[in-house]
Amino acid sequence: MKGLSYVQKTAIPYLILLALSLASISVTTTVFFDQFVLSNIQKELISETTLAAESLEDNPFLTEIDDEAKHIAEITSNRVTIILADGTVIGESDRNALGMDNHLLRPEVQAAINGKPEPFIRTSFSMHQRYIYVAAPIYNKQTIIGVVRLARSLESFDATIAKFRAVLIITASISLLIALIFMFLQTSKRFNPLRKISEAIFSSSEGELKTISGKSRNDEIGLLISSHNAQAERINLQIQNLRNERTKLSAILFNMTDGVILVNAQGFVTMINPSAQRLFQTNFQADKDNTLIEVVRQHQIVDLWQLTLKSGKTQNTTIQTSMEKDNVQVIGSLLGPILPGEVLLLFQDLTLLRKLETVRKDFISNISHELRTPLASLKALTETLQNGAINDPKVSNHFLSQMDEEIDNLTQIVTEILELSKIESGKVPLSKKLCTVNDLVTRPVERMRMQAERAGIMLDAVFAEGLPKIDVDIVRIQQVFVNLIHNAIKFTSPGGTIKVSAFLKDQSIHFSIADNGIGIPPADLKRIFERFYKTDPSRSSSGTGLGLSISKHIVEAHDGTLWVESTMGFGSTFTFCIPISQNKS
Ligand code: ADP
Repeated sequence: MKGLSYVQKTAIPYLILLALSLASISVTTTVFFDQFVLSNIQKELISETTLAAESLEDNPFLTEIDDEAKHIAEITSNRVTIILADGTVIGESDRNALGMDNHLLRPEVQAAINGKPEPFIRTSFSMHQRYIYVAAPIYNKQTIIGVVRLARSLESFDATIAKFRAVLIITASISLLIALIFMFLQTSKRFNPLRKISEAIFSSSEGELKTISGKSRNDEIGLLISSHNAQAERINLQIQNLRNERTKLSAILFNMTDGVILVNAQGFVTMINPSAQRLFQTNFQADKDNTLIEVVRQHQIVDLWQLTLKSGKTQNTTIQTSMEKDNVQVIGSLLGPILPGEVLLLFQDLTLLRKLETVRKDFISNISHELRTPLASLKALTETLQNGAINDPKVSNHFLSQMDEEIDNLTQIVTEILELSKIESGKVPLSKKLCTVNDLVTRPVERMRMQAERAGIMLDAVFAEGLPKIDVDIVRIQQVFVNLIHNAIKFTSPGGTIKVSAFLKDQSIHFSIADNGIGIPPADLKRIFERFYKTDPSRSSSGTGLGLSISKHIVEAHDGTLWVESTMGFGSTFTFCIPISQNKS
């Protein structure tokens, strides 16, 4: 029964039982019918034989016996044989009696001689058919003078029985077939809900279990369906919750700025998030069998993983993953009983933080330095005045003007710091209006020309006529020009030139301030836009280090970009671009 469906397992025993019942009914019926008909034939034959024997008692010498035999055969429709008491056949209805062998030892003849006619069935050698034989004694004055034997062919009986059997077999087979079909339909119908349940369990769509719809029923199947539906809804809800959780988790992992790598006890990476992929510049996917060293290519990390695994405690270290990322903190923690043997490696890129910290430290040291210088000279001037210089009007006037200059310096620093912090926090509203390039460039260039001439530097402005107008805060953009020209003057030796130009490129007006001054060391190029950053503080003592930072913020507030190109000893070119206004005029 292994491998059969439940429907087949249920139906087959009943079908076998039905087949056995039908077979036994058929056999019993056939046997009964066979015996019934045969015994009737036998009874009939016995009485016919007895009657024939009695009729032959009138013919004590048994003359014209062949005719007698034929006569009896005609009346009874049997084969008739008349035999003397010594077994000699003297009369025969169907054959010639002469030449027939002695019949004394035939069992029916023996039975007749013993006075008890009995039926015997056997195949006739002469007729090659099954016959039923009955013989009865012929008496003459109490003495048996002979025997009359009647034989009836069983051919039609056998044919009838065979037909009967065939009818029975056909009927039983048809019944069995009908029962089979009926049972199959019935059991299929009965088991259909069960099949639906198992289909619903196995054919889950996108991991969700299907519920079964249909008429509600009050039987066991109905109970099974309703409990399946309730279970499926519960499981689907849990699956949905899990899916939401998983989506949330993967969204977190995907968008996390920190790198995450999960390593199993064998050292294979089972999960890696995009930040970690970027950090280690790898396309590795966690569905491949890659070891930690193949993914991160750093022994320090593998050592940290092993230490975490061995100690069972959180470990951390700092590594460098590339030139730019030189301060990456790695924290290894064992995921404990939830994921035995798995270690979570968290990579926090602290490069920017450290840089900001450095900028902050620089800011504080710079600001103190910048403030200390004018304050120290103020203090010195005040002390000198207190120590008597105040009584000398000439000296005191000179000191006072120096003090005034230092106070201006201090005011400048404080103003610039405040300005920068306001711009950085976006608190400065821009009062934009459409301006021509001329409106923007001419005034600051004129303002700075005097200063440049004093420093022995040529300042020139070159730009084409008819450039599109741009929508800007004129005061702020002019401030950018002043800052950049001021720097150019500061870092260009006498005899140098500064060229201010404007041109149209990529839907933006590009402004460039190019000098042929000392240039900027390549390592400092990226940092000069940071607050208080100075390439060489000793060389650029006059200045706060805030000018470029302020300028960059102003340009970016106008959706523009400020950048620098410089070659040491040949000069620097600061360029900023402002997108041209949509509403040109
Ligand atoms: P500062 O007030 O010191 O000029 P900035 O932010 O304007 O501050 O400039 C930052 C630093 O960038 C300067 O200290 C200087 O080292 C460098 N720098 C700016 N402009 C130039 C230039 N045209 N040539 C050379 N170095 C420059």
